[in-house]
Amino acid sequence: MSFKRTIKKVLLAILGVILLMFIGMGIFMYKALYGINFYDSTPPELPNNFTGNTVLVFSKTNGFRHGDAIEKSLPAFEKMANDNGWKLFLTDNGAVFNSEQLQKFDVVIWNNTSGKTLDEEQRQHFKNYLENGGGFVGIHAAGDNSHQWDWYTQEVLGTLFSHHPIDPQFQTATMYLEESDPKLTIGLDETWERHEEWYMFFDNPRDKGFDVLYTVDESTINPNGNIPILASDKDWGMGEDHPVVWYRPLKKGRVIYSSLGHSGEAFKEPGHLILLENAINWAGRF
Ligand SMILES: [Zn+2]
Repeated sequence: MSFKRTIKKVLLAILGVILLMFIGMGIFMYKALYGINFYDSTPPELPNNFTGNTVLVFSKTNGFRHGDAIEKSLPAFEKMANDNGWKLFLTDNGAVFNSEQLQKFDVVIWNNTSGKTLDEEQRQHFKNYLENGGGFVGIHAAGDNSHQWDWYTQEVLGTLFSHHPIDPQFQTATMYLEESDPKLTIGLDETWERHEEWYMFFDNPRDKGFDVLYTVDESTINPNGNIPILASDKDWGMGEDHPVVWYRPLKKGRVIYSSLGHSGEAFKEPGHLILLENAINWAGRF
């Protein structure tokens, strides 16, 4: 084999690897932004005698998967359920969003869900559930822009996600507790320094009638989320009033969203666990 031929083969191989990397990156970006959507059609079986204070933990990800956070959150929710006497059901199965099974739950948690996780019919059941007295707790990615559902963005979240910093992605900042429903504030620190992937939203949910539980002091955060070639308009933050956890009644239901919880570590952090416990107790009227 000639030297030239060998060089040609090596170059082709390198080109192939680069091409595969680009395709891989492309799929990753597409999935993170729009999700690659798979729906479920066979509902799970709920345990017998599933009554009392009941909580559904839904962790389906058709977009970016916060794998570590989801994995660490499940035992944390189980411990919380034990401590509080809740009945817990953990699933990634979107077919549980049917009218018959949903009415068995006092609270539905979207646990770092991403992408479009429900088909149109399942969405309608969830909307009816919330508007008729259901409780909702959204965690971190449940509030990103991958869900493709206007009603959810407007009514449940109250704002549209823009970006998170990437320079660096995780930063330490101080959060401030606001005067809120005592059920939500019990056990929580008034000032709280945390390491997090801080989310930026286009509008302030406070202006949409939501009450705010925590804000973050943005002055120590570099909000820049610009990515070469892909995004050049993300070098901004939410300013002086930057809510990170907010809530409100939604018709007869109750919704609370927390943008915290990117990492698995967050689900070992005592303050964060108290925050989630309070949110579930409040949303479920327990
Ligand atoms: Zn994240």
